[in-house]
Amino acid sequence: SDTLHIVGGGMAGSEAAWQAAQAGVNVVIHEMRPKVATFAHKTGNLAEMVCSNSFRSDDDEQNAVGLLHWEMRAANGLIMAAAEANRIPAGGALAVDRDPFAESVTERLMAHPRISVSYEEIDCLPDEGQWIIATGPLTSSTLGQAIRAETGAEALAFFDAIAPIIYAESIDMSKAWMQSRYDKGETEEERTAYLNCPMDKDQYEAFIDALLAADKTEFHEGETAGYFDGCLPIEVMAERGRETPRHGPMKPVGLTNPHQPEIKAHAIVQLRRDNKLGTLFNIVGFQTKMKYGAQAEVLRMIPGLEQARFARLGGIHRNTFINSPTLLDDRMRLKSKPNIRFAGQITGVEGYVESAAMGLLAGRMAAAEIRGGDLAPPSGNTATGALITHITGGAEAKTFQPMNVNFGLFPPVEGLKGGRRGRKDRYKAYTDRAKTEWQLWLDAAEG
Ligand code: FAD
Repeated sequence: SDTLHIVGGGMAGSEAAWQAAQAGVNVVIHEMRPKVATFAHKTGNLAEMVCSNSFRSDDDEQNAVGLLHWEMRAANGLIMAAAEANRIPAGGALAVDRDPFAESVTERLMAHPRISVSYEEIDCLPDEGQWIIATGPLTSSTLGQAIRAETGAEALAFFDAIAPIIYAESIDMSKAWMQSRYDKGETEEERTAYLNCPMDKDQYEAFIDALLAADKTEFHEGETAGYFDGCLPIEVMAERGRETPRHGPMKPVGLTNPHQPEIKAHAIVQLRRDNKLGTLFNIVGFQTKMKYGAQAEVLRMIPGLEQARFARLGGIHRNTFINSPTLLDDRMRLKSKPNIRFAGQITGVEGYVESAAMGLLAGRMAAAEIRGGDLAPPSGNTATGALITHITGGAEAKTFQPMNVNFGLFPPVEGLKGGRRGRKDRYKAYTDRAKTEWQLWLDAAEG
């Protein structure tokens, strides 16, 4: 069939529909709202922003999300065009008037001669036809069960439990050291997967006090909290007993500090490599509901992390997402069922902008396939390419958690200085390189 079916008319589904229709393909968007509600959406509009009204930084030279804006604009993206048209002042951020924004996306999609919208819930993964599943973090439970039946229970999560992620270069290696517990690991890669930060007794006690005192986020109404087993937030662990973290993720055993081999640490915080590039590390067992400001402050008390810069802070949310590194090919197709693509937050990206970008890619790839062609993903040096590379292969599959776009996902540019002074030049080099390569990808796709 020459029709593309898109399930979910959110950020990703709306952009996917627009891109595919502009490429000459007929599209049906299947959207369950307003018939079936979610706890976060309030309207029947397509592309409703469920919380903040911001698309974050619009700086396309020094910020990875700003670069993603640039790439989507260059690709004539609908979400960016509607955002621009409904922009409200917000300094360097791209904030929008949310209702007119969503209304204008809805109107432009409905007015498109190749797009129709069918207001219904889809509850299965069809065997026939070309489909994109873009049902987002609040995928309906019937469809969630159908996805789970196809992927296996381990490969579909209903909550994220995100530990903070830190740029490797911002970790102080005069205090931290690389070692896996009990020196376990068959390969060099496994043995270099962990960094350790030691604490003495005073540091530990002060840290527990700070954890207990920190501001925490509450769950939204309707967001059940039955997730706790196996991913207890670190502050909840501390509430259960001051010594609990020291017997859990902060246990000081099987490790020797080469900076002070004679002193036995009272507690040790471990960080695990988060991507194959080795530019990002997550703090093991530190999923948290601490508010962002409090989180950064508390975590910088950890010796070695005083100057830590965060690629992503931690959080725990209701969030349906698949294990993309194992399930999807680089064309965003389910390996076991290639007539089904996934796009948006359900692929394990995080945020409005990232979700829309994955919609843009899936829409173009599906359109190319329907028209008898094939569209390769953009270079991993672009923001969109860095994201798709991460979720379909760059991320560690075993510990895969949703990711937002950040420069830690970009392959390094050679020959540039490190450190704070060098960072500005480095980010400019990343964004210059990305823009050139994104334009080449667009030209190749059009030519
Ligand atoms: P969505 O935009 O959620 O779109 C999915 C669509 O699929 C929805 O319209 C839904 O009704 C529909 N759908 C679901 N199941 C079915 C089905 N079976 N059949 C048919 N239709 C279906 N990101 C930010 O950048 N900033 C924020 O402030 C922010 N706050 C958030 C707050 C909450 C409570 C949640 C849950 C998420 C938040 N996010 C935020 C993440 C945000 O949801 C995503 O970034 C973005 O909306 C995801 O885009 P999407 O297209 O993948 O999913």
